[in-house]
Amino acid sequence: MEIQKYLLVSINSTEMVNNNKMLSENAIITELVPAPPESGSVCAIAIRFDKEHLLDVENILQKNKSAIKGIYPEKKMKLAGFLEKKLGLISEDFIKIVNKIIVGDDLDIVQIDYLLSTDNKKEIETIFSLADTIRQKTVGDVVEIRAAIEFSNYCKKACSYCGINRTNQIINRYRMSDEDILRTVGELDKIGIKTVILQSGEDEQISIPFLMAIMRSIKETYNMRITLSVGEKTFEEYKTLKEAGADNFLLKIETTNKEIFKEIHPDDDYDYRVQCHKWLKELGYITGSGNMIGLPGQKTIDIASDIVFFKEMGINMIGVGPFIPAQGTRFEELPHGSVDLTLRTVAVTRIVCKNVYIPATTALASLDKEAQVMALNAGANSVMLISTPENLRKNYCIYDNKNMIDINSALYAINKAKRKIPAYIKSNEGANLCE
Ligand code: SAH
Repeated sequence: MEIQKYLLVSINSTEMVNNNKMLSENAIITELVPAPPESGSVCAIAIRFDKEHLLDVENILQKNKSAIKGIYPEKKMKLAGFLEKKLGLISEDFIKIVNKIIVGDDLDIVQIDYLLSTDNKKEIETIFSLADTIRQKTVGDVVEIRAAIEFSNYCKKACSYCGINRTNQIINRYRMSDEDILRTVGELDKIGIKTVILQSGEDEQISIPFLMAIMRSIKETYNMRITLSVGEKTFEEYKTLKEAGADNFLLKIETTNKEIFKEIHPDDDYDYRVQCHKWLKELGYITGSGNMIGLPGQKTIDIASDIVFFKEMGINMIGVGPFIPAQGTRFEELPHGSVDLTLRTVAVTRIVCKNVYIPATTALASLDKEAQVMALNAGANSVMLISTPENLRKNYCIYDNKNMIDINSALYAINKAKRKIPAYIKSNEGANLCE
């Protein structure tokens, strides 16, 4: 243990020399050092001695009636915290996490939660730059452009957040005909789109044979890849759809917090939804999942658990979007999820899941047009066009103020993020392109 030292500061340098001499004569070992700041003297010399001599020193000084400024316990000048404050230095926990990422080790849920919740600016910058680097190394610079046709807004479910849930009376319902769907796919083909997403509510009138016939026509005429996003089905139905040509299936888990899941999905069973994903994988689908950020009661540890779920389930496409209230739903008065936390989740999902598709979601773009650009810089590598015919689009109001993502706004975001447009996009053709 270090010995506590004391510093004697005299009233002037003559006194200092005298005092030092006197103490030495009394067998007290001294050292001459700069005076401490608390003595108020700048550029003065202090006499340093060990604590064990404190009483002796005081007695000697008193006996000789020496005038002094004071005796001060020597303090170490603590700079702990200085670097953190001044330079935004990163914590040891964070360094550990980054080292794990760098060597390719998996993070545990607590570490994922740390990345989602740290408010240290330097750490946040590092997280985004790691995500962007991993995105670049895994999926490259090209931003995939896919297009969604929301072909029916009828739904048998009553999900609390979703604007097209069956209880919502204030929206007009529609169901596109096979001809209308094919005509729209034809428009997409003109601009070079290679993957079409067929999305709808859980509409009982849309039969499996209807979907099979549509997919057959799309394959025959346009040879596009097909993503289905039509909700929960049976194993047999998924199997039939796969055999009829579906390539990908999008079914978001929304949240892995079972309590929140139950609260927002009164008709659904969490375990069944997970089972659906297992079946889809087993059947050879490329699977898509995702979550919403900002659900009531959701914490960052829940989001960390979602990311672990995506990783463990081997999900290929992960859509992360903010919750946005929808008129006519039980959640219509709730605040929307945070853009910042959504972007952070995109980044951390990229860091954890690596070689996956992450769209810069429409929901993000709906809150802030620039957020799509930010998402592309935070680990995202695809953009989904909303290609539902204009007269119907406003009725697919899963949330309020849903942004229109057409090819122009997709190209704007890709260019602004300084990324590459895919070679299959015919940028000077097609109805939706710049006039
Ligand atoms: N019926 C299909 C498609 C649902 S809509 C299915 O169940 O898979 C597609 C996605 O929109 C949902 O998975 C959900 O993540 C998102 N969504 C719906 N309502 C939303 C809201 N209010 N805010 C943000 N995203 C919402």
